[in-house]
Amino acid sequence: KASENDVIYKAHDFLAKLYNHCMVKTPEGKGAREYLNDRGFTDEMIEEFQLGFAPDSWDYATNYLQKRNYPLPKVADAGLLAKREFDGKYFDRFRNRIMFPIWDPKGRPVAFGGRIIGSGEPKYLNSPETTLFQKGKFLYGFHLTRSAIRMKDQAILLEGYVDVITAYGNGVQNVVASLGTALTKDQAKLIRRQTESVVICYDSDKAGTQAAIRAADELIEAGCYVRIAKMPDGLDPDDYIQTYGAERFEKDVIGAAPTVMAFKMEVLRSGKNLSDEGERIRYIEEVLKEISGLTKAVERDHYLRQLSEEFSLSLDALKQQVFQFHKEGK
Ligand code: ATP
Ligand code: MN
Ligand code: MN
Ligand code: MN
Repeated sequence: KASENDVIYKAHDFLAKLYNHCMVKTPEGKGAREYLNDRGFTDEMIEEFQLGFAPDSWDYATNYLQKRNYPLPKVADAGLLAKREFDGKYFDRFRNRIMFPIWDPKGRPVAFGGRIIGSGEPKYLNSPETTLFQKGKFLYGFHLTRSAIRMKDQAILLEGYVDVITAYGNGVQNVVASLGTALTKDQAKLIRRQTESVVICYDSDKAGTQAAIRAADELIEAGCYVRIAKMPDGLDPDDYIQTYGAERFEKDVIGAAPTVMAFKMEVLRSGKNLSDEGERIRYIEEVLKEISGLTKAVERDHYLRQLSEEFSLSLDALKQQVFQFHKEGK
């Protein structure tokens, strides 16, 4: 088993180096390199994250792997190659894409994310799950950023690979991202082992907002103190840092991030006209339901008082309602 895995580790390492070489040193990779440079990715960032380019070819990786006597069926099982149905021939699965190696906690590349250059679908093509790579168990960039997370005693959870690279390359090194799926319990535990304090900064769109709230709930359950950062509409951390710089990101976005409850309240508030009685009551009920889900009595008390003051409602009535919701398990 160990030696079987070994060949898959080796194939990933080999291809990561090959794709990186192609990006950095060959004419085929020039367009990809320029695309990244235009987006503000420096050569150091490309090197640090071993970004690469898979050329627009059906047999570039296949030929290299074959020449080095890699067992193609096994390499295909790991998602690096694909198999043609009608004659059983292997061909490159990643073609004309920017390659992001994904590492295990020991820093071994065990998967790839491949981004199309410019626009097109799918934007990202990712390796399938294998015995060496379970996307719910790893975090992107973690082997590079773990020590910074520990040192700053804070983790910033981002959405995408490029967000991590841009933040890290611009000096915000205590960052990680999940791997294109919702944050799992295992990932929350991995973060919690390094620090108690997490700021989630996902893309500022509807999907990102909902995903941030779900990730927050997972992290809270793992025992973290969590805040959720806000950014101007439609931006992601990469966009923000490229536009406004890392200093403003740390100060105005991360530093100013509200608590999860305050963030949820803002989300519930948005799109409601609170001077309308009906909408106001609905808002209050929705907030009370959220409060009923809080496990810490001190926190419940804090937000109940806040609500009672803002809407001039009796604290007792609010408490009763929260108790009711809690019993109903809403
Ligand atoms: P870019 O700035 O280059 O567009 P991004 O990180 O902003 O990249 P998003 O669309 O925000 O891209 O996606 C965030 C993350 O979600 C990606 O890093 C990737 O892990 C995952 N992802 C996005 N699109 C897909 C897809 N089609 N298939 C699988 N995973 C995807
Ligand atoms: Mn997104
Ligand atoms: Mn982006
Ligand atoms: Mn994004």
